[in-house]
Amino acid sequence: MHVRKLTGGLVAALAVTFSLMGGQATAAPTGTASAADDVTAAARVVTYDAGGSAEFRSAVDRGAAIWNESVDAVELVPVAAGQRANIRVLADNGWPRALTTSLGNGTVWIGRQAVNEGHDTVRISSHELGHILGLPDRKPGPCTSLMSGSSAGTSCKNAYPNAAEKAEVDGYFGGAFARTAGSVPLNTMIVD
Ligand SMILES: [Zn+2]
Repeated sequence: MHVRKLTGGLVAALAVTFSLMGGQATAAPTGTASAADDVTAAARVVTYDAGGSAEFRSAVDRGAAIWNESVDAVELVPVAAGQRANIRVLADNGWPRALTTSLGNGTVWIGRQAVNEGHDTVRISSHELGHILGLPDRKPGPCTSLMSGSSAGTSCKNAYPNAAEKAEVDGYFGGAFARTAGSVPLNTMIVD
């Protein structure tokens, strides 16, 4: 039930209906609250497999957790054993990069070259996951921007998307923009 679309009259009518169902008079306010919660809690689940991310596994998990703290419309969840993940996260010796095949699907490489140059592993992880969630690079940019990537310098440890980046991802995965593929170019290797 989408309570927000009900008119006041309909809500009142429902309340009467509940009250007529003997012993369930309190169901109307409770039901109204839980239905409203359901509307906002409908996050799309995207699974990720960090099994190939070697020494960066905890940084990848942290990056996913940061996204889960930051947005409502999508939730990054570790893939169950034996299942195919939406996102594969790998480690290699190159520069960090991402290949987004469709919104919420693709491969991320946590490249050791950037880590060896001093870039923060959690920021790298969160940034690359941001590409899979539909965000392009926004370089050069300040440390407050997650998608400014390496252009913010090695002193930048910020792994959180800013308000605009959060709103953009929430827009891609929920509401009016649910059918878009985000702003990131698809099937194109994005280095950094
Ligand atoms: Zn990037």
